[in-house]
Amino acid sequence: MKPRVAFFDFAGCEGDQLQVANLEEELLTLIGQVEVVSFREVMKEHSDNYDIAFIEGSCTRLQDEDRLKQIRKNAKLVVAIGSCATIGGINCIRNYRDIDEVRKTVYGDKATLFDTYAARPIDAVIRVDAYVHGCPMTKDEFLQVVKSLLLGKKPEIPNYPVCVECKKNENICAFERDQYCVGTVTRAGCNSCCVNEGTICWGCRGLVDNPNKNAHEEVLVKYGLTVDDAIDKFKLYFGWQEGKK
Ligand code: SF4
Ligand code: SF4
Ligand code: SF4
Repeated sequence: MKPRVAFFDFAGCEGDQLQVANLEEELLTLIGQVEVVSFREVMKEHSDNYDIAFIEGSCTRLQDEDRLKQIRKNAKLVVAIGSCATIGGINCIRNYRDIDEVRKTVYGDKATLFDTYAARPIDAVIRVDAYVHGCPMTKDEFLQVVKSLLLGKKPEIPNYPVCVECKKNENICAFERDQYCVGTVTRAGCNSCCVNEGTICWGCRGLVDNPNKNAHEEVLVKYGLTVDDAIDKFKLYFGWQEGKK
């Protein structure tokens, strides 16, 4: 029997589910290997009988926790997809502000009707078996992770910084271009795609385990930048990992 899979969304833009919906011919291959029983973005049917749950988006409300726990109970494997789910992602920008102020800004005089708290990744609430990082995640990495899981293997994700890929790609470092980049502390796996296009790494794949912040600070000093230059870039994706809860 094919494994039954379901997709769920929490706070996010649904960009990762869109990546799955846009798999084109690979979608047919995937459908040949699994039975999709729930996927709000592409089908009406829904079942609570599934083996693998793919979860997109951050947990931003207490009631999200109940839903997450129910999904965990139903699924044999839980996979976080996209940085909102894997690291809290861009939603955690609000964790740097007063939550009542945030609520008022978004909901105005209806603010009290909407319960919310600091945005967090789903593994802050439930156990997660695998991660597909990125904002959005890439189709290739998603397929690789699914393949590993179907083979009963633990998906491998790089635990070295984007700089490693960037150097291999022979890019001119953003610091040499008078720009600020967090590739020094960000988990690789995207083939430094943003820098390859002439921009910088914003950190969407989250921090590597044990990021070498001393080396990062040395780079700042070397290029005459200050910690303040770094703070805004760190706020973009690292809010939860930096302890802003
Ligand atoms: S990780 Fe990015 S693409 Fe995915 S839901 Fe969050 S904001 Fe959207
Ligand atoms: S551009 Fe960014 S990712 Fe590339 S080497 Fe420089 S700091 Fe590292
Ligand atoms: S280069 Fe940085 S921001 Fe761009 S995809 Fe890779 S990790 Fe994300």
